[in-house]
Amino acid sequence: MDPLFANLNPAQCEAVRHVEGPMLVLAGPGSGKTRVVTHRIAHLLREGVRPREILALTFTNKASEEMKLRVETMSPGSRVWVSTFHRFGARLLREYAGFVGLTPNFTIYDTDDSRQTLKRVIEAGKIRTAHYSPDRIAAAISAAKNQLITADRYEPRIGSPLSQIVAEVYPAYQQRLLASSAVDFDDLLLHVANMLYVNDDVRAELDERYRFILVDEYQDTNRAQYVMVRAMSVDHPNLAATGDPDQSIYGWRGADIKNILQFETDFPQVRVVRLEQNYRSTKAVLRVADQLIRSNMRRKAKSLFTDNAEGDPVKLVQYSTQDDEARGIADQIAAGIAAGRRPRDFAIFYRVNALSRVLERGLREHGIPYQMIRGQEFYQRKEIKDVLAYCQLINNPRDDQATLRTINTPVRGIGRKTIDRLSEFAYQHGISLLDACREAGQVEGLNARAIKSVAQFAALIDRLSLLAGAALEEILGTILTETKYREGLQDSESEDDLNRLANIEELLTDARQFDEAHPGGGHLEEYLENAWLVNETDSWETESDKVTMMTLHAAKGLEFPVVFVVAFEQGLLPHERSLNDDEQMEEERRLAFVGITRAKEHLQLSYAVHRDFRGQRRRTVPSPFLLEMPREEMELVSIGAPGGWDVPTDWEDVHDLHDDSHHFEIDPAVDDHGVEAEAPTEDDDSFAFGANAAPAPAKSIPASQVTTAARL
Ligand code: ATP
Ligand code: MG
Repeated sequence: MDPLFANLNPAQCEAVRHVEGPMLVLAGPGSGKTRVVTHRIAHLLREGVRPREILALTFTNKASEEMKLRVETMSPGSRVWVSTFHRFGARLLREYAGFVGLTPNFTIYDTDDSRQTLKRVIEAGKIRTAHYSPDRIAAAISAAKNQLITADRYEPRIGSPLSQIVAEVYPAYQQRLLASSAVDFDDLLLHVANMLYVNDDVRAELDERYRFILVDEYQDTNRAQYVMVRAMSVDHPNLAATGDPDQSIYGWRGADIKNILQFETDFPQVRVVRLEQNYRSTKAVLRVADQLIRSNMRRKAKSLFTDNAEGDPVKLVQYSTQDDEARGIADQIAAGIAAGRRPRDFAIFYRVNALSRVLERGLREHGIPYQMIRGQEFYQRKEIKDVLAYCQLINNPRDDQATLRTINTPVRGIGRKTIDRLSEFAYQHGISLLDACREAGQVEGLNARAIKSVAQFAALIDRLSLLAGAALEEILGTILTETKYREGLQDSESEDDLNRLANIEELLTDARQFDEAHPGGGHLEEYLENAWLVNETDSWETESDKVTMMTLHAAKGLEFPVVFVVAFEQGLLPHERSLNDDEQMEEERRLAFVGITRAKEHLQLSYAVHRDFRGQRRRTVPSPFLLEMPREEMELVSIGAPGGWDVPTDWEDVHDLHDDSHHFEIDPAVDDHGVEAEAPTEDDDSFAFGANAAPAPAKSIPASQVTTAARL
């Protein structure tokens, strides 16, 4: 039998064989959607489609690497362009920079750089922002960008003071970015979508170039992403999307389920394929998932079955404290490993990163190898950003943000007043800040010493710029010596500085590895782009034999034999900011659904009666989602909780518990969602605690279902 079709069921075969014309594959978790994408690419190649005519888009670097690998195995040497939306956007923008007013060497600002720029714009324009924080304003701008509302088309809404402020800040911010030849993450999509929209020649060119476009996890596309792929599928409408609306978990980033409806309107002749067999999970796991997601009102029901075994009942465990939870899970994993499982078979998921610390401790105590998947941390560290800012400036001298970051780091006696005068001068003459430094002598109000320091800084950057084409390790090494950055840290006695030094060494190692992969030098821009577009899951070593710990968002698309989802508690899962909003509540439910459907054989959900958060011990309220699961068929276990089992049996109890429950304050900075373009878009107003949570039908647990003994 043809190996390409040997491991596919008839519906999957139909989708894989499809060549010309639009196609939509809508199917539940574990039904082989991603498998269909990779097999279809192999099939297209076999049908004579050239590799460079194929564009496959996903959401994380990890997913795209994985896909690339699969395609490579099936069609060796094919070199199909598999990418994330943001990387693809960056690549197109480098090619067409001039069309949107950028230079090809533009800089990509991360969240922090964009925020700094926004603050400067607000300050410089003396814009009154009332009580709205820069983060709030940034979130509103991001939301507008994701809906393709450009600065010149942004209309303030009557009765919304925030939108009045945004109407003032957004154009100024955008102008500042362009002047620095910089983009934020959202711009990578917005500029491209906009360019395709207004410029039909470019659109037609790209439509011709990428004749076959495949999008996985389509349910998470936002408006800009939809317009991008739609515009490139007019003359060659061979757009194929695979997705599951029940797994849409990026509404906060503008993901829009309407894109699926729009797809069918835009392409009335679309072939719709449904996959109904789940190959991943046991029957027991699937039933729990299915029952939970049925509580969502805004959905189309799908049928999903599996020929897999019934499997053990899903466990629902109540622990007394978070420490018990961590210890209990570590015990089970240790026992599982002793019984022959590998560490890599296990995964622990949580809603927010802040929950991971205690779990980590539990695993460490048992000496269980684990890997924690965290965001862009490394490249966000101060010292790393400091050094990379020099690189940014070498690559793009117009980047004012990089000039501001480097001008007095390490300290070279250039004070705030001097910088303000330079900025003012740059603004008046319409030149970059670095150019203003070169002309420091002309700037009013600077004393001789300041002029000298500034001129020395400009000369330093000019010297470093000569290195632009060198190997990366050499560039970084020279920056560290010439700026005396390393010297400063070496001379310091402080523990923090020693850590910084270690991180800098790590950066040099990173650069060396990059050089090995990209010999010959001249790859500075590419290196920076990799650093900027890093994802949460990038650090994940798929090959290593370790327990995986990650957020529910990061778990999308993955699967593990044994899965633990922790902290099923009101305010955490569902997240507190969703409690007053039905739509967001449904998104939280989908997030729980994503977590549950990652499990192949064993699944345990848990919550702790008491949880320490922000240094305070609090009594928790169990998640309402637990009430929506078929608990009569689950194994209920209570461990260490003095009063025995106390998952409330109906909503009366939940409301009683509200009185002594508390607000979980979650730091947005640690609540990362595992995506490259990170911009929390939720409105702060929705942060109220759950008194208005929607009541669910009462259900009770038969006492016979409750076991109090720990069963490993
Ligand atoms: P998700 O919605 O979670 O992204 P998915 O629909 O993309 O899931 P895949 O990850 O493609 O599903 O497949 C789930 C699992 O089932 C994988 O381990 C895959 O290898 C396996 N699988 C898919 N199709 C088949 C098949 N026809 N026969 C055997 N195994 C299959
Ligand atoms: Mg998938």
